[in-house]
Amino acid sequence: MIKAKNICKSFTDLEVLSNVSFAVKQGEVISIIGPSGSGKSTLLRSLIGLEKINSGQLFIEGTQVKDDNKIAYRKMGMVFQGFNLFPHKTVLENLIEAPLVVNKEKKALAIKRAENLLKKVGLFDKKNSYPAQLSGGQKQRVAIARALAMKPDIMLFDEPTSSLDPELVGEVLTVIKDLADENITMLIVTHEMGFARDVSDRVFFMDQGKIISDTVPEKIFVNPESKRIQTFLTKIL
Ligand code: ATP
Ligand code: MG
Repeated sequence: MIKAKNICKSFTDLEVLSNVSFAVKQGEVISIIGPSGSGKSTLLRSLIGLEKINSGQLFIEGTQVKDDNKIAYRKMGMVFQGFNLFPHKTVLENLIEAPLVVNKEKKALAIKRAENLLKKVGLFDKKNSYPAQLSGGQKQRVAIARALAMKPDIMLFDEPTSSLDPELVGEVLTVIKDLADENITMLIVTHEMGFARDVSDRVFFMDQGKIISDTVPEKIFVNPESKRIQTFLTKIL
């Protein structure tokens, strides 16, 4: 499904990803945790083509992703920390934009699917609102629905709840949890350790540009294998 082989990425002379290799199967949910600056965002951005890797190989569903092969990127949707909605479009317009422009879908069909997705994230009644009229949690749920409108096989989340007020975190995590139950492959960078423990099949711990642990949540949270991970978890929990 996703296979990364020795991915390296540097910004000028700073190596941010250092020989990162991993494989993710269809339907797996992976949480990515680790200290600030360890390369979590860069890893996700590299997967979806927002950063160009310096070396290594990346395969999505068996197809090698390269600059000249944009199709593979379309199998992925990404949700960021900030909401990145189009401010001058309504919620519904935000959802149908890419299906119409990129996928050249028929408008009626795109609207139908957008409405279903809005029902799924509990925001059908907000379809004609503008982003500025929504709460942070609602905006983030729209961002998730918008990514899903492109029918991705893989969803990438980069700290989707970290800019939300604490009381709004739960509603967004619930939506992501529901997706996990639907067998969508997901990679989630998060500081929500309880969520990571409950939802993930595996947890990647990143430190200094490397995945230093790739294991089941029970193992990393109950009995972390290294001092480095123990120290990180005591600080964050
Ligand atoms: P955080 O938890 O704070 O979000 P992160 O693990 O997501 O951290 P990255 O954003 O991937 O970390 O950054 C990894 C390193 O790469 C950091 O040292 C960062 O300063 C650097 N970096 C990221 N993007 C760029 C860029 N566009 N140009 C130069 N350096 C960058
Ligand atoms: Mg980050």
